[in-house]
Amino acid sequence: MVHYHVKAIDLQAHLYEVNLHISQPASTLRVSLPVWIPGSYLVREFSRHVLRIEARQGATKRTLTCVDKATWEVSGLDEHQPLVLTYQVYAFDASVRTAWLDAQRGFFNGTSLCLRVEGRTHEPHELQVMSPDPSWTLATGLQAHKTNAKGFGIYRAADYDELVDCPVEMGPHWRGEFKAGGISHELVVSGAAPSFDGVRLLGDVQRICEAQIRFWHGRGKPPFKRYVFMLRVVDEGYGGLEHRNSTALIAARRDLPQTGHAEMTEGYITLLGLFSHEYFHTWNVKRLKPAEFAAYDYSRENYTQMLWFFEGFTSYYDDLFLWRAGLIDTAQYLKLLARTWHLLQQTPGRHVQSVAQSSFDAWVKYYRSDENTPNSTVSYYGKGSLIAACLDFTLRGRGQGSLDEVMHLLWQHSKGGAITEADVLMALQQVSGRSFAKEIKAWVHGTKELPFLELIQELGVQVHRLPTTCSQRLGLRVQDLKIKAVLKGSYAQKLGLSAHDEILAVNGWRLKKLEDWDLYASQARQVQVLVARDQQLITLTGPARAPSMLDVGAVQFTYKNLRSAS
Ligand code: ZN
Repeated sequence: MVHYHVKAIDLQAHLYEVNLHISQPASTLRVSLPVWIPGSYLVREFSRHVLRIEARQGATKRTLTCVDKATWEVSGLDEHQPLVLTYQVYAFDASVRTAWLDAQRGFFNGTSLCLRVEGRTHEPHELQVMSPDPSWTLATGLQAHKTNAKGFGIYRAADYDELVDCPVEMGPHWRGEFKAGGISHELVVSGAAPSFDGVRLLGDVQRICEAQIRFWHGRGKPPFKRYVFMLRVVDEGYGGLEHRNSTALIAARRDLPQTGHAEMTEGYITLLGLFSHEYFHTWNVKRLKPAEFAAYDYSRENYTQMLWFFEGFTSYYDDLFLWRAGLIDTAQYLKLLARTWHLLQQTPGRHVQSVAQSSFDAWVKYYRSDENTPNSTVSYYGKGSLIAACLDFTLRGRGQGSLDEVMHLLWQHSKGGAITEADVLMALQQVSGRSFAKEIKAWVHGTKELPFLELIQELGVQVHRLPTTCSQRLGLRVQDLKIKAVLKGSYAQKLGLSAHDEILAVNGWRLKKLEDWDLYASQARQVQVLVARDQQLITLTGPARAPSMLDVGAVQFTYKNLRSAS
């Protein structure tokens, strides 16, 4: 048995203390901490927050040797005596990927706190968590073994994979429960304002869960016995991480529904989309998964070319399920689709990188975005979801089935397990009666434009071009007047504007907002732009207007008789 005893020893210093008990250790034993957490494809080297590690057998201190940045070795052990490792972990990262501890709340993933005992990962693992504060409760997807009414005590996992796939959330929570598909679902929220309408959120999330369980299993049962949503709300923040029977989410406080306000705000649609996305992952990536993820290697990057399917298709279905569950209407749904399309159009990197490559490169590109990201990369989320849409529209438009049938077939064939791109091709062929090899090659492995607008029009949707905004015409991404990115091939790039420049004036006129650019530049033959670059004032000169390949505004979709089935 491998047993972890976790205690918050210093809330102000953000420190957990972990006692790791290993029964019957081998004479030489290695322990290591993962360098990444499944679902977030970046080497994060969690061991950098491990402090004061020591080893004992009874009263005898044992010597630990560092083998590499994340691995320790103890040798000369007595195999009849349990080995106890004691160490501290600094926890002050507000994201869902690592660990947090302060006087208000605690949260951790096993990948941050639980050293992996090499050679023993397939054994049952126990996690014992002590309560730091009598007002706190604990939530986790782990199975309770011996716990008190507040949820503190001992939990059990079948193996190390399950242990680290069940994050733990602690604090004074808002808590609610509902049943979907006969399964108990828990929702815990920390950090909400008193105006938070928990009952509304609970009801809306329940509709999403019911629709998704019906989608995968009809009247059958989902492949988990209970499910836990752990939502942390903050002033600014957005994100989530999927797990086998739980998810950790982070969202903006103002996006929560408020008591007495029944309207469906954009922020609330975004929040429900996040719930829908992570819940869909319970099937698509946690069970149906890339063959490369059949057994995770926690010590290094785990490459796959298939995130366009696992993240992209999940992104297609997340909003679709808001529509199918009746939470948003057709016009609201089409607005979300139009936004995804427009975002891709504003990404010159779509002509540089395919989504298969973008998936493979996630470890060095997607999770390490910088000012050149829009020019050199494409999002496997955004383009991946549009590929799903193109496949679905093609199948439905020609009466050859639907993407739903493809997903069901993949689930049945793999028995909810590992798949490859060949399996996706096979399922498409089986559903439609023809090969989709050409489409997958062009859309997934190519960098040409997707036929999304043509296909959506075939379904009876009308496409309208909206007027371009100033930043779109210039080819800039700005925050206030600070340039975040200059898009490749744009007017702004030809003018010599650079990321990190602050735009001060145009043609001698002080600029307060970018939209005023045309006010001072549109009638002039020349434009002079004054920018601050590394504290130096620089004047850039060029023609007042230059043709730009990025001169593309947003689109709006309207419909009369939509032929897409819900
Ligand atoms: Zn995702």
